[in-house]
Amino acid sequence: MIKTQCCIVGGGPAGLMLGFLLARAGVNVVVLEKHADFLRDFRGDTVHPSTMAVMDELGLLDDFLKLPHHKISTMAGYFGSRRVQIADLTHLPVRAPYIAMMPQWDFLNFIAAHARAFPGFQLLVRAEARALVSEGGKVVGVRATVEGKDEEIRADLVVGCDGRHSMVREQTGLKLDVLGAPMDIMWFRISHQDGDSREVMGRFSAGGMIVMLDRGDYWQCAYVIPKGSADKVRAGGIEKVRATLATLMPGFEQRLAELRTLDDLKLLTVAVERLQTWWKPGVLCIGDAAHTMSPIGGVGVNIAIQDAVAASNLLAAPLRENRLKDSDLAAVQARRLFPAKATQAMQVGVQNGVIAPTLASTGEVKIPLPVTLMQWFPILRRLPARLVGMGFRPEHVQTKPV
Ligand SMILES: Cc1cc2nc3c(=O)[nH]c(=O)nc-3n(C[C@H](O)[C@H](O)[C@H](O)COP(=O)(O)OP(=O)(O)OC[C@H]3O[C@@H](n4cnc5c(N)ncnc54)[C@H](O)[C@@H]3O)c2cc1C
Repeated sequence: MIKTQCCIVGGGPAGLMLGFLLARAGVNVVVLEKHADFLRDFRGDTVHPSTMAVMDELGLLDDFLKLPHHKISTMAGYFGSRRVQIADLTHLPVRAPYIAMMPQWDFLNFIAAHARAFPGFQLLVRAEARALVSEGGKVVGVRATVEGKDEEIRADLVVGCDGRHSMVREQTGLKLDVLGAPMDIMWFRISHQDGDSREVMGRFSAGGMIVMLDRGDYWQCAYVIPKGSADKVRAGGIEKVRATLATLMPGFEQRLAELRTLDDLKLLTVAVERLQTWWKPGVLCIGDAAHTMSPIGGVGVNIAIQDAVAASNLLAAPLRENRLKDSDLAAVQARRLFPAKATQAMQVGVQNGVIAPTLASTGEVKIPLPVTLMQWFPILRRLPARLVGMGFRPEHVQTKPV
């Protein structure tokens, strides 16, 4: 049996950042990650200004920016053939007023490497938490399979950072509100060639939508389809998919031949959900486990990091000093509920006001009024930049290294 002060289930952005910050503040932490490494595709590659502001406060920003990345300072979109500017991040009052596009595995490896410098930090990989252990109505640990062997980890607090299909969330039986999403996403890659743009591009056309993320030598493309329609898309065959994509991606028709079979398209279902209560005695959920985010705005990773900062600010001292109370867990939810709610409300607004009508349209796609106003008054582009780049209620690191 392993004993620790805090057992974190999930080594994604929320879990690793929380593990790092707690260990830095002198708390003993075990992070369980079911995979062997962080090399998984289809996670956000966007590191936002709010996350880099946290890195700056931790004194890590200069080293972080030495990792290969490229900068996105503005966001553009196409409605039909009309190009519009949507956000301008250059005015944000931080040292890195741009989105750093960086594979998430580089970002997570960076945090894990810095966390390992603290003696209280332990990351177990190939370690899948399978069940919560409770005694007297309080969660006191988790049962896990670590490197193929059964293991029990006892802890003063278990934090569920295990994402959208959270085992921790499910086992607590806490109630979940499902806010819904009208779309799913099929991911695919095509090559990036000399002369291609380096922007994040959103293309809205009658009946379809594509978002293209520049990943250096290839484009990671998100083909947005109506919710539940993946089987229908697949039934049409790869030729039909290529033909549809060609209409959505003018200029990329030749490269669509790189999509050889339907296996080159990977389905990622989109969900927007939120726990009514994020904690029970001995256990807390943060990140996607507490509030699953839609990919809109590419903000989920950064909200997860902000949750981790708030949780470490509120929990480090009580955990270190063995005086953790239920009210400390409630305080984390009280601090982060508004940002989660406001961000999800914004995402649901875009889903219902822009994406659903675009997917349902058969004629010309209308530019939404706020986007039209942004073309006339460029200063308005600072508002989405602020909401996406910094989020609601940005957090600051209040703990000190011990
Ligand atoms: C299609 C799509 C695209 C997106 N694009 C972006 C984007 O560009 N930018 C952005 O910011 N956000 C994006 N998001 C949202 C983002 O992926 C999430 O909000 C974010 O990853 C949440 O971080 P997290 O740490 O809470 O959870 P996760 O990133 O899901 O991490 C959970 C971790 O827990 C591990 N785990 C799960 N179960 C267990 C278990 N039982 N035991 C041990 N380990 C376990 C998993 O392996 C994983 O490493 C996107 C979402 C979707 C669906």
